Amino acid sequence: MASDVEDDEDFEEEFEQVLFQGPMFGRDADLKQNPRLVKAALVPVKTMISDALSRRAHTILIEPANGRVAIRFVVDGIPYPAGALPGQRGMAMLQMVKVLAGLNPQERSQVQSGGIRLEHEEVKYELHVTAVPIKPGVERMKIKVSNPKVTFLTAKTAGMPDDLSEQLRGFTEDSTGIILACGGPDSGRTSLAVTTLHCVDPYLYSVFSMAETEGIELINVTDFEPEEGHDLELSFDRMIRREADLVFMDPLTDPAVVQTMFQFADRICFVAEIPAANPFEAIAQLIAWVGKDQVAQRVKGIIGQKLVRTLCDDCKQAFRPNPQLLKKLRLPPETSVLYRAPPPPDPEDPDALTIEELCEDCDGVPYHGRAPVYELLELSEGMQSVVMESADPAAMRAQMVKERMRMLQTDAIRLVAEGKTSLEEVQRSFRPPGQPKRRPKRRPRPS
Ligand SMILES: [Zn+2]
Repeated sequence: MASDVEDDEDFEEEFEQVLFQGPMFGRDADLKQNPRLVKAALVPVKTMISDALSRRAHTILIEPANGRVAIRFVVDGIPYPAGALPGQRGMAMLQMVKVLAGLNPQERSQVQSGGIRLEHEEVKYELHVTAVPIKPGVERMKIKVSNPKVTFLTAKTAGMPDDLSEQLRGFTEDSTGIILACGGPDSGRTSLAVTTLHCVDPYLYSVFSMAETEGIELINVTDFEPEEGHDLELSFDRMIRREADLVFMDPLTDPAVVQTMFQFADRICFVAEIPAANPFEAIAQLIAWVGKDQVAQRVKGIIGQKLVRTLCDDCKQAFRPNPQLLKKLRLPPETSVLYRAPPPPDPEDPDALTIEELCEDCDGVPYHGRAPVYELLELSEGMQSVVMESADPAAMRAQMVKERMRMLQTDAIRLVAEGKTSLEEVQRSFRPPGQPKRRPKRRPRPS
């Protein structure tokens, strides 16, 4: 349809091109109404999205910067520059994406969001598009890529260690209490809640769901449709009569729902998400809703996760850790090998390969994919007393350390020991924002 359009020189690389399959949310893409835009920007947009998908980007950012339009691909949580275009051409691409998502390209003073369905290399994707005005006539855009292919999230497929999934299963054993998955936006909180739910033994327990889980399928879970005119209490009563052991709830945001849930938590076990950056914030929020007593009595545990980039298997390098390092990391002294990223090419050496030539698999990044690390605040007897006394985050943290509960940073060392990530990546992911990177020491040659 656009074969007469010249290829954009900034995107001249060859990829298998995406096939657009129309906008989402019942909208129409009116390409005929925008012939000039289509002529100028359809092919570059196609190429940009194809490029992003081939690089495993999960987000594409299009943002004005110094009179130009910068494009960045976010891969495994890290944004990479993917070209800067002259302002007008870049803005044309942004408008073209809006047309493809069924949005109005003339409207530039309001936030607009929509979606595009497409196929690339025989895989179907959904792009969630948001255009945000930043000054008159100028917008920035965020495109989130999701692969709606149904995924079964079990402890195994999510990468949850066996001892943790057993612990979560233990929480559900008496079919009472509340188990929560916390996390900020984009933290994978829904996946974490579903994985937690799937730790239950489906042959022994009957599990109902009242939650929406977009694109994630629940296994061995019965969808519960509330009857007309039934409020939450009547619905819970009905589930109890149907011998429900466990109920999966929508993310906790409504105090009234949370209060009712706590009232029933001595008869059913609940699993839900709670929007909170960490378990301590989650506890504070719950206390505000239902009070300390209820929290200490009813909550069994709050799980959180953080995604850490995993080393590329094709180019990671083994090294023999020295005993001091193992001691510092509290790893067994017999650990004989850990892994790290290969050193970057020597800029002094004219024959050195470029970063992209170093490894085809990861383009020299040298990380490929992410793996979760976990924290689990358990309402043990000790923790219940801390909650009743002060619920102070520092005191709760100290209690977690004292009782050797799973904490993010120590759990990340598990990934290092398993050879899945590097110490450098763990340091990077736990560095507080804004703190500069320490200058890396010169590395010895790989063993
Ligand atoms: Zn690699």
